[in-house]
Amino acid sequence: MITVSSTIEQPEYWQKELAKAITDPAKLIKMLGLPDELIQPAQLATEIFPLKVTRHFLQLMKYADINDPLLRQILPINSENEVIKNYNTDPVGDNKSVISAGLLQKYNGRALIISTGACAVHCRYCFRKHFPYNEENGLRVWDSTLKKLRSQADIREIILSGGDPLSLSDSRFERVVEDLQKIPHLKRLRIHTRLPIVLPERITERLISTLAQSRFQTIIILHCNHPNELSTILKPYLSRLKKSGITLMNQAVLLRGVNDKIEVQNKLSERLFEFGVLPYYLHLLDSVTGASHFEVDEKFVKKLEVKMRETLPGYLIPKIVKEIAGEKYKIPQ
Ligand SMILES: *Cc1c(COP(=O)(O)O)cnc(C)c1O
Ligand code: SF4
Repeated sequence: MITVSSTIEQPEYWQKELAKAITDPAKLIKMLGLPDELIQPAQLATEIFPLKVTRHFLQLMKYADINDPLLRQILPINSENEVIKNYNTDPVGDNKSVISAGLLQKYNGRALIISTGACAVHCRYCFRKHFPYNEENGLRVWDSTLKKLRSQADIREIILSGGDPLSLSDSRFERVVEDLQKIPHLKRLRIHTRLPIVLPERITERLISTLAQSRFQTIIILHCNHPNELSTILKPYLSRLKKSGITLMNQAVLLRGVNDKIEVQNKLSERLFEFGVLPYYLHLLDSVTGASHFEVDEKFVKKLEVKMRETLPGYLIPKIVKEIAGEKYKIPQ
């Protein structure tokens, strides 16, 4: 008998889970016990931006509650199809900041690689939902991305973004980090990801060891908007990252009907800290087509900042910022 040794990697648990993500609005609505009337508008909205949610994230939602703050972030609804003044497909000027295909630079010393268009969840408010991922993917033209990075000695921090950079397989991710490490002027590696929130098992031993063994100072910026997103399953995974010397921070987006309450923001900050994560940014919504129903009143933003100061230690207050196309930094509000 001949034994065949295969070099094809077996999919990991998280990859199998990702393949089982829910993409059919009718299925989502049935699974959550929501009214059938929601199906048709949801289907209409997914023609522009598909539905996607992991089973883990679904389990964190309350059954039959149309106002669940996690559900609101992922459920396609009627108002996404409305055309609203000042809302457009590139609200933060990404397209103008491309310095080489899939490589963006807006700010001093930092450059951002669009590493994939794939995500484990589709957030209805996403500012990159219309991004031309097919043309702008820094990994697809990896040699020229590296060449550009080598030629720009002013870049000290490289940010992996997307899409979600942790959608890449561990082996792919490892090769990316290895190649980046060979560029001497890069000192810090930053990863912007929502994947651990919607699928904690994504934090594999191999991923941790790739990051722990690299010479970079590594920062992971999670994207979590509501305390209910921080499940007990996630906690030990984050602890392991932290024990490996990785800095953990969070960015959230202020969203109407999701986290636009002082108590929710306070609870989010407290719970993040329990999980070993510091609040970093609270972004005001980017004016992306189809997301106007998430916009929060400006007066509330001012009140929120003061209330947070009155109740939380300074290190638990995120910087409330808005990204304005063409500016040199994210503007404090
Ligand atoms: C948001 C962003 C960054 C990071 O900005 P910080 O203020 O350092 O968090 C870097 N590059 C691009 C293109 C960005 O959009
Ligand atoms: S995970 Fe991030 S990039 Fe992906 S849809 Fe959500 S906000 Fe957009």
